[in-house]
Amino acid sequence: METDVARNLREVRSALPEGVRLVAISKFHPSECIMEAYDAGQRVFGESREQELAVKAKSLPKDIEWHFIGHLQTNKVKHIAPYIAMIEAVDSLKLLKEINRQAEANNRVIKVLLELHIAEEDTKYGLSLDDCRKMLEEGEWRALDHVCICGIMMMASNVDDEGQIRSEFSLAASFFDEVKQKYFADDDRFCERSWGMSHDYHVAVQCRSTMVRVGTAIFGEREY
Ligand SMILES: *Cc1c(COP(=O)(O)O)cnc(C)c1O
Repeated sequence: METDVARNLREVRSALPEGVRLVAISKFHPSECIMEAYDAGQRVFGESREQELAVKAKSLPKDIEWHFIGHLQTNKVKHIAPYIAMIEAVDSLKLLKEINRQAEANNRVIKVLLELHIAEEDTKYGLSLDDCRKMLEEGEWRALDHVCICGIMMMASNVDDEGQIRSEFSLAASFFDEVKQKYFADDDRFCERSWGMSHDYHVAVQCRSTMVRVGTAIFGEREY
């Protein structure tokens, strides 16, 4: 019989247009739930805490592609550098440099996204549009050969007003275009727009998201 997780996963997938990837956000959910999603074919999972991820990554199948989606302290980078597939929430040059250093130490190139702060809540991390422009303009990132900047990530405000959510996603999408044209026009790897969570991924995919990060709608409510 189909498990709840498998059914939820099927429903979320069926709502995604072709070409939009699903990152199943498994933070705070046990490995058994991840395996239910894995058995239903899901291979990309996102976690937000380094230690929790380390425990899960160690025991779960090696073909899982792990994305780090939380705020990452520089002193934690070395722990995930050997295996992380993508670090989605890079919000400073300092962090980018540390990822580069640890990737080099592991002989790899780590994919990253630049996290924008667009939502109205001031508790959320991320670069302001101006700080992101400034960092790209200053150009130090160009020398970092062991990170690959693959696009932009953001969260919309946690509100019911769909119009507001839509306008925040649209702002992120036009910012993506600006940056793509200015700095990554010849780089096909810069192609990801990571937005959309359980309550707003339907809107996100209408606003050019290429990657949605969905947790609750697949695994149920988290118990903190
Ligand atoms: C927890 C989290 C998600 C998933 O949120 P849901 O509402 O459970 O879908 C997505 N992105 C980030 C950055 C998160 O921290």
